[in-house]
Amino acid sequence: MAKITLDNLAHSYLPNPSGEDDYALKELNHDWQDGEAYALLGSSGCGKSTLLNIISGLLHPSQGRILFDGQDVTHQATAERNIAQVFQFPVVYDTMTVRENLAFPLKNRRMPADEIRRLVQKVGHMIGMEAQLDRKARGLTADAKQKISLGRGMVREDVNALLFDEPLTVIDPHMKWELRTQLKKLHHDFGHTMIYVTHDQTEALTFADKVVVMYDGRVVQIGTPQELFERPAHTFVGYFIGSPGMNVFDAEISGSEARIGEARIALPASYATAGGKTQLGVRPEFIRLAEGGDGIPAKILRIEDVGRHKIIRLDVAGREINATLPEGTPVPAGTDRITFDPEGINVYENDWRVAPKGQREAA
Ligand code: ADP
Ligand code: MG
Repeated sequence: MAKITLDNLAHSYLPNPSGEDDYALKELNHDWQDGEAYALLGSSGCGKSTLLNIISGLLHPSQGRILFDGQDVTHQATAERNIAQVFQFPVVYDTMTVRENLAFPLKNRRMPADEIRRLVQKVGHMIGMEAQLDRKARGLTADAKQKISLGRGMVREDVNALLFDEPLTVIDPHMKWELRTQLKKLHHDFGHTMIYVTHDQTEALTFADKVVVMYDGRVVQIGTPQELFERPAHTFVGYFIGSPGMNVFDAEISGSEARIGEARIALPASYATAGGKTQLGVRPEFIRLAEGGDGIPAKILRIEDVGRHKIIRLDVAGREINATLPEGTPVPAGTDRITFDPEGINVYENDWRVAPKGQREAA
C-alpha cells in the first residue's frame, strides 16, 4: 500500500503538442493518500483512463513524475509497480478454469499452494462464483467473465494500489450493487489505496470517501460527497452531481447583491469578482416557489413525481430551471416567481466558484 504522488503530470497523445487543447490530461499535481478509497468521476473522454493507465505504468506520461511513497516510479514497468488493475471489459484466459484464472496473479508471485487455495476460495465467495470455480472460463457469460477479472484484481493482498476502470459496466444492476459492497468490504479489511473510475455519480458517491471529479482533462474538484453537493468548485461539478443538477443563472454581482434580469438578490456574503462571466449556482433543493413579491419571474411547465420528492420544471426567461419539493409538500397554486434559499447560493466567475470575501477557498 502506498501514497501515490503525481508531480507536474500531463499527457498528450500527440507527438508535438502545442496548446493546452492538445493535452488529454492537463497539468496535475496531486497526492492519493495511502489507504484511501477514491472515486474518479467524469463523463466519457475526460481523461480518466489516461490518468489511471499512467499510474499503473501502461502509459508513459509526456510530462512529469509519479512517485510511490516518495520513490520515483515514472520509468518502472507495470509489474514492478505492484499494482492490480481491472478494466471495463473482461480479461480472462478461456482455456483455464475460474480457479486457475483467479490463482494466476498469485502463482506468478510463487505463493505457496495452500495460501493460493485459501485466497482463491475467499475471492470466489466475494464475487459469488464459489460454485463455478472448477468450470472452464470458456462459455461463461460476459458478466461472469467480468467477475473473474474483478476477482483477479482483488486476490492479491500485498499490492501498492488497486485500480478499477469502470469495472461494473457489463454487470447487471443488482449484481453491481453486490460487487460494489464487496469492494468496499475489501477496502475496509485491507486498507488498500483504491481508485475506482466511473462516469456514474451514484456509483462514485456510494463507493468512495473522496471523489475526484474530472472535466475536460482536468481535475476540477476533490471532495467528500457533501462538499461536492454544497460547494461545487466548478459549474460542471454542479451540473454533473445531483439529480437534477445545479441551476446556473447569468448574474451581475456587486458586493453582496446579485442582479438577474430585473430581479435583485441579496447574497449571504460579499464577493469580489474580477470582470469575468459571473453566475449564480443554485441547486433545485434551494429554489423556493412564490406568488408575487420579490423574486425572479417563473412559470411552471410541469411537475414530475419521482417518489421521494417532486421535480418542478419551470421556465425562467426562456430557460428551463428545476426546483424540488419534498414529498407531501404542496406546490403553491399561483406560483409565478422563484426565490433562492441564501445558504444554497454559490457564486461563479468563469465557471469557477468564488469564495466569499474573508473566506479562503479550501484547496
Ligand atoms: P475517459 O476514460 O475519461 O473516457 P480517456 O482517458 O480514454 O477518457 O480519453 C481522454 C481523451 O484522450 C479523449 O479525447 C480520447 O479520445 C483521447 N485518447 C484516449 N486514448 C487515446 C489514444 N490511444 N490515442 C489518442 N487519443 C486517445
Ligand atoms: Mg475510460
